[in-house]
Amino acid sequence: MSTVTSSAPVATPANPLVPAFEAALRRVLAQQGAEGSATAPAAFSAAALACREVLLQRWADTQAQDAQAAAPGAVSTSRRVHYLSMEFLMGRALGNALAALGLAPSVEAALNNESLSLGDALEREPDAALGNGGLGRLAACFLDSFAELGLPAFGYGLRYRFGMFAQRIQDGRQAEVPDDWLRLADPWDVPRPELRYHVGFGGRVVTEGGARRWVPAERVVAEAHDFIVPAHHSQRVATLRLWQASSAEPIDLQAFCRGDHAAAGRHQLAADTLNWVLYPDDSTEAGRLLRLKQEAFLVSASVQDMVARHLRQHGSLDKLGRFEAIHLNDTHPALAPAELMRVLLDHHGLNWDEAWQITREAVSYTNHTLMPEALETWPVRMVEALLPRHLELIYEINHRYLQEARAAGADEGMVQRISLIDEQGERRVRMASLAVVASHRVNGVSALHSELMVQTLFADYARLHPERFHNVTNGVTPRRWLAQANPDLSTVLDKHLGTGWRQDLAQLQKLAPLARKAKVVAEVQAAKRANKLRLAERIRRDLGLVVNPDSLFDVQVKRIHEYKRQLLNLLHVVARYQAIIANPDAAWVPRTVVLAGKAASAYHAAKGIIALAHDIARVVNSDPRVGDKLKLAYLPNYGVSLAEIIMPAADLSEQISTAGTEASGTGNMKFSLNGALTIGTWDGANIEMAQAVGEEHFFIFGLRTEAVDQLKALGYDPRLYIEQDRRLQRVLAAIGDGTFSQGDAERYRWLVDSLTQRDTYLLMADFADYLAAQERVDALYADPAEWGRKAVLNIAGMGGFSSDRTVAEYVERVWSAQSLPPAPR
Ligand SMILES: *Cc1c(COP(=O)(O)O)cnc(C)c1O
Repeated sequence: MSTVTSSAPVATPANPLVPAFEAALRRVLAQQGAEGSATAPAAFSAAALACREVLLQRWADTQAQDAQAAAPGAVSTSRRVHYLSMEFLMGRALGNALAALGLAPSVEAALNNESLSLGDALEREPDAALGNGGLGRLAACFLDSFAELGLPAFGYGLRYRFGMFAQRIQDGRQAEVPDDWLRLADPWDVPRPELRYHVGFGGRVVTEGGARRWVPAERVVAEAHDFIVPAHHSQRVATLRLWQASSAEPIDLQAFCRGDHAAAGRHQLAADTLNWVLYPDDSTEAGRLLRLKQEAFLVSASVQDMVARHLRQHGSLDKLGRFEAIHLNDTHPALAPAELMRVLLDHHGLNWDEAWQITREAVSYTNHTLMPEALETWPVRMVEALLPRHLELIYEINHRYLQEARAAGADEGMVQRISLIDEQGERRVRMASLAVVASHRVNGVSALHSELMVQTLFADYARLHPERFHNVTNGVTPRRWLAQANPDLSTVLDKHLGTGWRQDLAQLQKLAPLARKAKVVAEVQAAKRANKLRLAERIRRDLGLVVNPDSLFDVQVKRIHEYKRQLLNLLHVVARYQAIIANPDAAWVPRTVVLAGKAASAYHAAKGIIALAHDIARVVNSDPRVGDKLKLAYLPNYGVSLAEIIMPAADLSEQISTAGTEASGTGNMKFSLNGALTIGTWDGANIEMAQAVGEEHFFIFGLRTEAVDQLKALGYDPRLYIEQDRRLQRVLAAIGDGTFSQGDAERYRWLVDSLTQRDTYLLMADFADYLAAQERVDALYADPAEWGRKAVLNIAGMGGFSSDRTVAEYVERVWSAQSLPPAPR
């Protein structure tokens, strides 16, 4: 089957890239053919290497343009952006590059000549999975928008040797397998050996001539590897700069000559460890020191790179804050302000006030979670051991900040709450506090989340600095998530709206009036059906399960987390299963429930949910009384490439987090953009989506945030809900008595106990309303014309959820020179 981007801008003979590109492609193919290996992997690397040559030229042109724009005397309204993130969930790059360059048709023709297919070649590329989930994928969408908007911007991250683990399912349980994504030399990797910086760890701080100087015990070298991200409608590119550690002293020759080879290589080993793995989750204590080291490494290399470039272009540092923006994607890079202060004070001799002014101008921060267990703090002793000079600077920042707060009337209770150091128990550095205090702008990622952020987590800071806080709702790139993932739907949109939606997603609103036209609805539905066939084939291939492509595809794919409530979804599946068995001849609307997602390796409750899903699937899918009235498919190894197949094929998108827990979500946007209807709670960006689409075209259910808070304040007792609901009792009884676990009643005892005793995420309270919403879903699906009309209206309402809009808002309110207070003179 072909995944060719048939609706991408077509390479006409006028595409000036084609001749050189085809020559390069033929050269590489011939080389490999000569070695007798003109296979799909060879086709992939040939096409990738040919793209790379074009991209390198564009990269050089972009650099030259930016250097000119930043030259003294040139007027620059947007500063250069340095987007620091521990995660970039990029996925595959070849399909995107070919679409951006308009070269897909000519590559396809060239490969067909060699009896190769482009679809197969695209499938050979490993996903670059340098991230866990939504946060990393957001960073990847931003890079695409940076390029598209022509913003002078760098993404900065780490070049993990092993990214997000690959998920295997063994006996219905998750097993984690290393993801060796660099096993085939990465054709996109552009090593920049000339960009090298030293990063120190440990040691002590000495006073020399009245100044403090850090003498690290260990030094590693950070070397840049660039990954080029092309724009789709211009020659511009954005750069993702990934740092690779190597030892400043790769071999200790004396130790080697003594014959102590382990000691001779220890520095190199320590450096390699830095880039070894992306931590699948930071919820475990294990390896936290290494994680802190990774964060410090990313921050130090990136800040040094920025300062060096600024000095090359401007000759002095006094305007650094006005020309360079540093953005913190969550708190993981929150050491950046401390590192910038260190460089400005210790290496360049600025005084405190100058350095702090520059730092505050440069730094801004996005908060991604309010959940207390996800908020990053580091034991003071750990920071002291690894980064003694940074700790001194954090203390000094804190001291001055608290003094100011006291002068502004803060009482001691407030001072304790806003301090960068948590003094309760083991003293810890609060990274979110450091990020807020050092930033001139702080934002949340949806209207609700930003509001809750200033009401709860940052309430004290918001009272002191109301002007600092604002909202920028997330978005997704329509190039990857619509044009590339869904060529069939794109063709329909092109026909009725023109092709401009790729650059200006707001044009989707022109689709709304067409929802009344049966012909347009039918075309959109035909595209959906083709995508459902593609997903059904994938389910058959991966699971050996045959599903009915005309059944309602009910999909929940995302990280497995208790707050996202995949368990609530499973409770509905069991309730439906029991109802079907009780009444097999009723007019059931056939459903295929699709789940996918990884659980953090140490997150036992999440792994239990994966196991339960597989146990339920085994029973339901093999019950002859059920047939295709209900199927449950758990697709393994969720990632960007799988999402690109799943999103376009969904009829129903499950966005069912407990209100107040999902900061924004971006999966919700991808689904709706591809014509799924949403069943969802009043949470995160679901709210803004429902408002944009029309609430009557959404299946909204469940308690809202205020009701959740009230219920908890009154003392929530899940048993009150269970007592009232026979269906809930039957569902819990079946899970608890071994119906799905081969008679093993112990297997899910903990889960049923936790639901009946605590139910932290209020599944019991929302169950009845969730089932009622599912009944409305069935009723509507039984009316295909009406369902199709609403699907079209959902697409039409998604114009505001492009990451281009998101990035444009950051530029306007955070990253442009205009967003800063007037320069002191
Ligand atoms: C979009 C995306 C996410 C985020 O999904 P949410 O539903 O917003 O949590 C996570 N992982 C992948 C691979 C994605 O593409």
